[in-house]
Amino acid sequence: MKKSKTYIPFHKPTIGQKEIKALRKVLESGWLTTGPQTVAFEKEFIQYTQSKYSVALNSCTAALGLSLAAAGIKQGDEVVLPSFTFPATAAEIIHLGAVPVFADIDPEVFNVTSESIQKKITSRTKAIIPTHFGGHPCDLRPLIRLANKNHLLIIEDAAHALGSLYEGKPIGSSKTFAACYSFYATKNITTAEGGMLTTQSKSTEKKVRILSLHGIKKDAWKRYSDAGNWFYEVVEPGYKSNLSDIQSTLGRVQLQKLNRMNKERCHIASLYDKYLSDIEEIQTPQTHPYATRNGHLYTITGKTWTFSQRNKIIQYLKDWNIGASVHFIPTHLHPYYRNRFGDLSHELPVTESVYHRIISLPIYPELDKESIKYISEVLKNALAATKKK
Ligand SMILES: *Cc1c(COP(=O)(O)O)cnc(C)c1O
Repeated sequence: MKKSKTYIPFHKPTIGQKEIKALRKVLESGWLTTGPQTVAFEKEFIQYTQSKYSVALNSCTAALGLSLAAAGIKQGDEVVLPSFTFPATAAEIIHLGAVPVFADIDPEVFNVTSESIQKKITSRTKAIIPTHFGGHPCDLRPLIRLANKNHLLIIEDAAHALGSLYEGKPIGSSKTFAACYSFYATKNITTAEGGMLTTQSKSTEKKVRILSLHGIKKDAWKRYSDAGNWFYEVVEPGYKSNLSDIQSTLGRVQLQKLNRMNKERCHIASLYDKYLSDIEEIQTPQTHPYATRNGHLYTITGKTWTFSQRNKIIQYLKDWNIGASVHFIPTHLHPYYRNRFGDLSHELPVTESVYHRIISLPIYPELDKESIKYISEVLKNALAATKKK
């Protein structure tokens, strides 16, 4: 087989003339930071996710942190989350003085389960943060039951799950405390950097909005209307996490294209499924009956691969101009967490075993059929080549 002349990146955002035109318009409008575009983006996002309220923020990390702050998470509280996620979540818990407690995942779709979370609940547990890994929703019904029983709040890490459905309904529409989305460059829609929080609670929305902009209470100045527009009051020490109109403009165009882009992602996943179906030693992504995926990640799992074999396969793909990746390096294996919590391998056996055997293949709307075929063929060669050694 001939090696691809051009590098096939792991990810590429879909940006077209519509985005460029909209950006030019906002740049010429005279208003760049949070304003009318952001208000419109929030409204459209509520409609899409069938949630009640939303706050546009400058990252999903900010959305997670502000959810925790709005939930009143403080010094000494415990928050249960998967180790198998992006380390931003654990860091936000730590910034509030609380303690991240890692729960194991299920070996099929790599999500935390109510069983794994239950084992970690103590009298100090205040919240749980399930990640909808790769766009496959967590089983929310038992999670909500568990949370209600133990008086815990659920904050959904929906960074991967915009457009995913749980029991036919969009992520964001469930009765959880909040859902947090990412518009980072690799996500299903992008604003370069950006995020959104959705909630069903007016008071949560209000708390997050105030915290997201220096703790300024906007309606405070209404009481001083004779003081004009220069007056504002800070009611708590807030953060600076608002989204600009430049980014919201991009987000609005992307949101319009989302269903089509997700459909293309899912089509790519089905082609991979087809091309890889005859390889005995790998497991292609699974889908539970309650879930509809959005094609965020296409993660294959070697049934018997070792850590070094998996790494060699990724290197082989790279040598053949294919950018593959690993989602995720478990949080508890990063040096900071290892130093702080020690060896957690006995508590997180599935997480560690899965981590050693996964590869995320390129998946994005602009990936063409030829490349998908090429990647699948190179992968087969990689398996043969790494087995001999
Ligand atoms: C990308 C990602 C985040 C962080 O999103 P940012 O917008 O970059 O802050 C959080 N959790 C998961 C699971 C992610 O993939």
